[in-house]
Amino acid sequence: MGIKVGVLGGGQLGRMLAASASLLNVDMVILDAGESAPAKQILYPRNPSLAHIDGSFTDPVKIRELARKVDVLTVEIEHVDANVLEEIESEHVVAIHPRPSTIKIIQDKFMQKSHLRSYGCPVSEFVVVDSTVESIQRCSHSFGLPFMLKSRTLAYDGRGNFVVRDINQAEEALQALGGRPLYAEKFVSFIKEIAVMVVRTAQGDILSYPAVETIHKDNICHLVFAPLRSRDPNVAHRAQQVAEAAVKTLEGAGVFGVEMFLMEDGSIYINEIAPRPHNSGHYTIEACETSQYENHLRTILSLPLGSTALKVPSAAMLNIIGASSSIEEIDGFVSNALRIPGCTVHLYGKTECRKGRKMGHVTIVGDSDATVRMHLRPLLIALPGGGS
Ligand code: ATP
Ligand code: MG
Ligand code: MG
Repeated sequence: MGIKVGVLGGGQLGRMLAASASLLNVDMVILDAGESAPAKQILYPRNPSLAHIDGSFTDPVKIRELARKVDVLTVEIEHVDANVLEEIESEHVVAIHPRPSTIKIIQDKFMQKSHLRSYGCPVSEFVVVDSTVESIQRCSHSFGLPFMLKSRTLAYDGRGNFVVRDINQAEEALQALGGRPLYAEKFVSFIKEIAVMVVRTAQGDILSYPAVETIHKDNICHLVFAPLRSRDPNVAHRAQQVAEAAVKTLEGAGVFGVEMFLMEDGSIYINEIAPRPHNSGHYTIEACETSQYENHLRTILSLPLGSTALKVPSAAMLNIIGASSSIEEIDGFVSNALRIPGCTVHLYGKTECRKGRKMGHVTIVGDSDATVRMHLRPLLIALPGGGS
């Protein structure tokens, strides 16, 4: 297509974005400190001017180098230098999607929650805290125990979260969260976690994918079931409405992952939003008419959007998470997965395995929930580390 897209970040989300780009002949240049980052491995630059860049997505010099090579910049991670993106935007060098202002709001979880609350989007109670024992103890009086202490910035896979269960844990919490700016959230006793991927055009038109159920283990996304099933058949639609309304308040084009909590009484709170493709949307590659990755590209390039509808009755996504440094465990799991009908394996090309690291995922599609769950069962047992 002759269009060049620059991506800040070269992890698995960038890799799957690159796979979609290759189908549309869209050139993609990746900026990541890893010389053989997952996204760089699968796109060979068509000419030397499109060579991937080795450098950090927080390095202003490298970000500017990327901007000079491409027509559109986007992100596969929100922890980028948003200030330099704002400068580049004001210089009209390249289009940036979503807008740097959006990335800035989202990358600070306290700012993100305040933004959502100011637009009337449903979020549970939260408050900024100082990094002092007294400030944390004050939270336990207003929120009760347990409550969530969270890092405002650089969070992922729960690595910026600490559940304060006892008033005497304040010191331990401060140490665990390593001197980062903090805020606290009331503990939400949800009955389910749900997510909706929303596609936004630069003009603010909105399209959403079906609501899904997400199941976390040790704060990391473990399983996704699509579509969401619940006693109240309206929940899925309401979740889409909540997610769409939230993404409407942001600016710029892209797909957004909206994580939500479903309560016993049917009410929905937003947990957080990701301004990029999202783990809860991996299933869209095999299960929807158009994947989240392709629609992200389509929307940032102002191409017609593809249908977000499911093309199978039921799907599940299971993350392959390292249990140790043993890559052999992953290989063993994959040979099991390859025998399962309706199962597609995605490996991310990470050279080293670590406990808690996302190494790949599988998606299982089927003609019913029962079929999908039957095929999922042996894989849960075969997971690295003994499974669940
Ligand atoms: P991600 O990898 O999704 O970006 P993160 O590090 O930003 O993760 P959160 O999404 O804030 O972390 O939290 C991780 C998980 O912790 C949630 O999916 C949920 O299971 C649990 N959690 C977060 N906030 C709360 C809360 N206020 N009450 C109860 N559980 C919570
Ligand atoms: Mg997060
Ligand atoms: Mg999250």
